[in-house]
Amino acid sequence: MADKKTEVELLSEKLFNKKENAVQRMTAEQIKTADDFCEGYKDFLNASRTEREATEYFVALAQQKGFEEFAEGKKYKAGSKIYKINRGKSVMLAVIGKQDIKKGVRIAAAHIDSPRLDLKPCPLYEDSDEALFKTHYYGGIKKYQWTAIPLALHGVIIKKNGETVKVSIGDDASDTRFVVTDLLPHLAAEQMERKLNNGIKGEELNILVGSRPFKSDSEGELVKLNIMKLLNEKYGIVESDFLSAELEAVPAFSASDIGFDRSMIGSYGHDDRVCAYPAAMAALDAKAPEYTLLAVLTDKEETGSDGNTGLNSSYMKYFINDLAKLQGADGYEVLRNSACLSADVNAAFDPTFPDVADKNNFAFINRGVVVTKYTGRAGKSGTSDASAEFVGKVRRIFDNAGVIWQTGELGKVDIGGGGTVAKYIANLDVDVVDVGVPVLSMHAPFEVVSKIDVYMTYRACAEFFAAD
Ligand code: MN
Ligand code: MN
Repeated sequence: MADKKTEVELLSEKLFNKKENAVQRMTAEQIKTADDFCEGYKDFLNASRTEREATEYFVALAQQKGFEEFAEGKKYKAGSKIYKINRGKSVMLAVIGKQDIKKGVRIAAAHIDSPRLDLKPCPLYEDSDEALFKTHYYGGIKKYQWTAIPLALHGVIIKKNGETVKVSIGDDASDTRFVVTDLLPHLAAEQMERKLNNGIKGEELNILVGSRPFKSDSEGELVKLNIMKLLNEKYGIVESDFLSAELEAVPAFSASDIGFDRSMIGSYGHDDRVCAYPAAMAALDAKAPEYTLLAVLTDKEETGSDGNTGLNSSYMKYFINDLAKLQGADGYEVLRNSACLSADVNAAFDPTFPDVADKNNFAFINRGVVVTKYTGRAGKSGTSDASAEFVGKVRRIFDNAGVIWQTGELGKVDIGGGGTVAKYIANLDVDVVDVGVPVLSMHAPFEVVSKIDVYMTYRACAEFFAAD
């Protein structure tokens, strides 16, 4: 039998960068571990539909694992586990390392906001015996995908007296739900001539919320009145309370396995909870790290990271400054020696749409966590572009620990682009590279990831935290 390898085979094995499905390199036991890890991830997805709910979820998990809320002036020693919440919409988990904090912290940063439909400040109106909500979409969406699917409503309302009312309706199978209606094909001849970008226009993303009028002979907006009456009874609110509210309509699909082989997960909001969960779990599971580690679960990435809960603000820098002060150091001394995995998703190759990809430089599902050296658009505009030295270091960490990883780039040159929080952290004088999970149908109401890639992203964060 010719089981002796030819010279070409031997040389190719030695010299070529091998790309293969992670299944070929994993034991059945390792694959089971990955699948089991994803059961926890699915629970998190179903419980955390918004940045506020993700923050609450991580805080509850952190408390169970012995983390306590950061208190200024309190002394923390190596092994102390702390968390700091930023305005209910971002949270940082830290474990104090044995080494002097001047040697830097190890950061894994991911975002917990996802594309969705936000309610406008004056959302409720009545038209032709229907009650509807006006929306303003959040993040980059293909608007036509958000019609004719069940929606849930999550968020908070701050009443005039300052009281906070939490809203979470539509995710339980017994709950009522909401929907953006679309035109029937029979009457859509004109609509079908529109460009896909405008197939549904922003002002057409109106959510149907009721249809029965308040029973009365009087004139007036009786359907709207009936809805306000129900909302007043349930939440104690009046119409003006919408002005001080953040209400987010999200797809009411729960996470489910995808495929006969159950190798994938379909869900709303993988981007970027699929990296936030691994990053948070790596911090929660860390045992007595050498270097102080920090998992940053942030808001506002999908709208460009601006705002005081996004990473283009100073909140993470200030917290690192707080940690530095505990050991008599300055924040900048810590930052310049720090290193960060910006954990965010990348596009997965889709065989139905091969034209957007340079296959040699695109991520594939089931090939492990994606290392993305640079994001941006056009001539690498708007990216921090990780140095060869830092990518080399991260690569050694992953290879030495058996983390299965691949490289990725967001599409062919000049075909589009995008960014992550990486550049905002790099601009603080920190070494940063993007890593994350490849996603099919990114930013759609129902996105798909591979379980093995989710688990490898957890391993990547954990090994990065533990490395010298
Ligand atoms: Mn993202
Ligand atoms: Mn995104």
